[in-house]
Amino acid sequence: PAEGRTTAPRLTVIGTGYLGATHAICMAVLGFEVLGVDVDRTKVERLAAGEVPFFEPGLPELLRKALDSGRLRFGTDFAEAAAFGDVHFVCVGTPQAPDSDAADLTYVRSAVRRLAENLDRKALVVGKSTVPVGTAAELTALVHEVAPAGEEVELAWNPEFLREGFAVQDTMNPDRLVFGVGSEWAEQQLRAAFAPVVEAHGTPVLVMDLPTAELVKVAANSFLATKISYINAMAEVCEATGADVTALAGALAHDARIGGRFLRPGLGFGGGCLPKDIRAFKHRAQELGVGQAVTFLGEVDAINKRRRARTVDLVRELAGGSLDGARIAAWGAAFKPDSDDIRDAPALDVAVLLQDAGAQVTVYDPEAMDNARRAYPQLSYADSAMDAARDADVVVLLTEWAQFREVDPEILAGVVAHRRVVDGRHALDRDLWSSAGWEYRALGRP
Ligand code: NAD
Repeated sequence: PAEGRTTAPRLTVIGTGYLGATHAICMAVLGFEVLGVDVDRTKVERLAAGEVPFFEPGLPELLRKALDSGRLRFGTDFAEAAAFGDVHFVCVGTPQAPDSDAADLTYVRSAVRRLAENLDRKALVVGKSTVPVGTAAELTALVHEVAPAGEEVELAWNPEFLREGFAVQDTMNPDRLVFGVGSEWAEQQLRAAFAPVVEAHGTPVLVMDLPTAELVKVAANSFLATKISYINAMAEVCEATGADVTALAGALAHDARIGGRFLRPGLGFGGGCLPKDIRAFKHRAQELGVGQAVTFLGEVDAINKRRRARTVDLVRELAGGSLDGARIAAWGAAFKPDSDDIRDAPALDVAVLLQDAGAQVTVYDPEAMDNARRAYPQLSYADSAMDAARDADVVVLLTEWAQFREVDPEILAGVVAHRRVVDGRHALDRDLWSSAGWEYRALGRP
């Protein structure tokens, strides 16, 4: 642990959402003195009271442990953050801009400015948010202009690769650490901040310049999105030929050069990262005059969106050709299991499309109900998977939570109006459901 190290830097984490809260909590557990700062006072108060404001397995226990250690505090005061920290991690949101595909950098610029205005001694500001390449250079100029300590304040970029649902494990034991730095001093500060991680796991540390570090993150997310859309493009071809994409994917996966991970066909990707990251990358490449290099990302996005429409078509076909008045049980709202995040969630997109087509849709999700209700008050909600399925004409699985996979189709048959299921995630055992008398349909399968 960092505790007792004479060189351990004091850390601040600016922005305490999914990424920042996880980072602040884990760094305190690893022994650092940490101050988390956010503009959202309610969020800060909940964290300070020991409550994680979102669903992330294992994090509540670590938050209590970190608070009990006395090493973790939360606040809203940037002057306090500047006075306290040696290394400042910037973890604020970079959503899609309201009027274009670009990343909205308002929050990053504002957070860095408010911190820098108070920095009157040498310090390192480390961006962790996902940003367009070139942002670090822009922020360096901003910091040097507004910080009382001027050029003594340095910028670094340490892109974050954590996955929601596995955030603790990915923070404590990441696959790799990427340090984008402009000086040896900045590298040393980052090495000190991650020493407990590297010593515990021998984590590879990749040191590079700032623009390359910014690009690593968007390049990684573009690759992952492309892999998913690739297999979903194959699913479209399968649908036209009567081939089975799950058998196809299984056979491809045996080629070690391809690999089976992220090669699962289905309803496609969503969430607060992949969709907006590939759009922002495409936009940034166009600004840089290299738009042709990544035009394929537009196809990746389009393939992904077509899966949502195709899922609606499957439900319509199964409902007998019309959705008008059909009762549909929508299982899942979160963009993926083990998360309550509904940002650009395929599940809710499909639920709304079904409702717009005239269906009566009842949604259930194990963790994302509050978020879904707030964002989509027009949908109906049930208290359990069984309740949602009561008298349903079609059950459609949209997020592959374990509890949906474990439902007994014989028991479920007793509550629905018709034994019809659309498996949007290839998560159910087709043979089991078919032998219980269900009409089973899935994307890319005959
Ligand atoms: P989030 O919306 O959960 O959290 C962002 C937080 O920043 C919010 O609490 C917000 O109140 C706060 N904030 C906004 N403006 C601020 C300001 N000026 N000063 C201080 N705080 C401010 O978002 P997130 O999912 O944690 O994502 C944050 C960044 O991390 C994004 O760039 C995202 O792309 C990247 N990222 C996220 C994940 C993930 O799995 N969520 C993984 C890797 C990278």
